[in-house]
Amino acid sequence: MAQAQRITPRAKDFSEWYGNVIEHAQLADYSPVRGAMVIRPNGYRIWELMQRALDDMLRATGHRNAYFPLFIPMSFLAKEAEHVEGFAKEVALVTHTRLMATGKQGKDAIAIDPTSALEEPLVVRPTSETIIYAMYAKWIQSYRDLPLLLNQWCNIVRWELRTRPFLRTTEFLWQEGHTAHVDEADAEREARLILGIYRRFNEEWLAMPVLTGLKTDSERFAGALRTYAIEALMQDNKAIQAGTSHNLGQNFAKAFNVQYQTATGGLEYVWSTSWGVSTRLIGGLIMTHSDDNGFVAPPKLAPVQVAIVPIWKTDEEKQQVSGVGSQVKADLEKAGLRVELDLRDTMKPGAKYFEWEGFGVPVRLEIGPRDVAAGQAMLARRTTGKAPVPLQGIAQAVTKALDEIQAALFAAARERREQNSIRGATKAQFLEFMQGKGGFAYGGFCGNPSCEAEIKKETNATIRLLPDPEFRSKETPKTCMWCDAPSVAEAVWAQAY
Ligand SMILES: [Zn+2]
Repeated sequence: MAQAQRITPRAKDFSEWYGNVIEHAQLADYSPVRGAMVIRPNGYRIWELMQRALDDMLRATGHRNAYFPLFIPMSFLAKEAEHVEGFAKEVALVTHTRLMATGKQGKDAIAIDPTSALEEPLVVRPTSETIIYAMYAKWIQSYRDLPLLLNQWCNIVRWELRTRPFLRTTEFLWQEGHTAHVDEADAEREARLILGIYRRFNEEWLAMPVLTGLKTDSERFAGALRTYAIEALMQDNKAIQAGTSHNLGQNFAKAFNVQYQTATGGLEYVWSTSWGVSTRLIGGLIMTHSDDNGFVAPPKLAPVQVAIVPIWKTDEEKQQVSGVGSQVKADLEKAGLRVELDLRDTMKPGAKYFEWEGFGVPVRLEIGPRDVAAGQAMLARRTTGKAPVPLQGIAQAVTKALDEIQAALFAAARERREQNSIRGATKAQFLEFMQGKGGFAYGGFCGNPSCEAEIKKETNATIRLLPDPEFRSKETPKTCMWCDAPSVAEAVWAQAY
């Protein structure tokens, strides 16, 4: 029974807590394949809701969805030098196309048919730039074909040694946008536009506040000119990269010979971008909002927004409260809400509350005979308090409560992030901070990769990004937080997932 399980408190073991929350909310499970998870219906529904919201935003800005093959010829990966460097160590390869029955018993009953070896092995896509550019070379001839704004929803395989549900898995789901443009300015505008969309999506839907900014060269995407990212701070004060948007320059266009005829008749390589967010966001969402009682779903992405739990003792009462519950459900659904009416008679109300709580349902409506008599229901919020609401106009009251919960989750997460950020720290303070509770540390950076590497080696903290102006400190740092050389940019460090 679910109620027999205990969730390890965050303060005791954050990593164990994370696993418990996922198990309790039935979001995902481990599979027989090491490093590959099963996303269960409760988790997959969140992904579907995320997809719908983000897809609408992308469509509204002119992007269209397409689908490219799962398999990529191995030689394609070799075409862009940095790209092959970045992905070579984590690919799955298809080398054969047939198995054969051996006539033996047990695990020896089948074997690889050696005559079925592929002439050129296929890589299971770790990202799709290469295959997409092979097609772009065919599709793009003239400036009239630009910009080309495509997006793909698909699965990705990157062979990972250390995995964790949603955060790092060998196979994951994502969207990858791939766009081609006439010049650098248009590609840059696109990379920035997407970063803004990602921010809005994370803040408005996941209620997860993010910093935006530029990655340093050492953290940049393999093959990109510039990588922009959004970064969020989890409750254990570790950062998570929640999305990236790359200005790829002309690197892939040159590698795959994607040229177009300009308006004046010249020949030019296209400028391109790629960008993505993945099921990792579900991990971020869990670690941003959930508590020691389990999962907390932001209302906009909650698979069930309202659980109605009628309370009865006698059959007559059951009939009465069920009838009112059904009516309330109909009212709420008419208002566009996702609602469950819990009429199970195999469980006591307390056990039902516990289960819906563990599922992260933002609002629970309890309806007992005395509530019906008073023309009300008890509205219990997942995170705070319980109060009666009149049955008359209940849809407006519940909608208002959900909006308030969504806003409160975002405000609390942003406040927590700011409380766990330090600015203008000295090297000694930085060391103490990173060895202690950690968080976002803002400071001057000399721009030297060896300085960056040394900090990483000593503290495990990396530069998450060089923040955009709105996040920068009032006082611009003059020297590098670590080495005292002149600062070229303010940076934000954190230990990260
Ligand atoms: Zn330095």
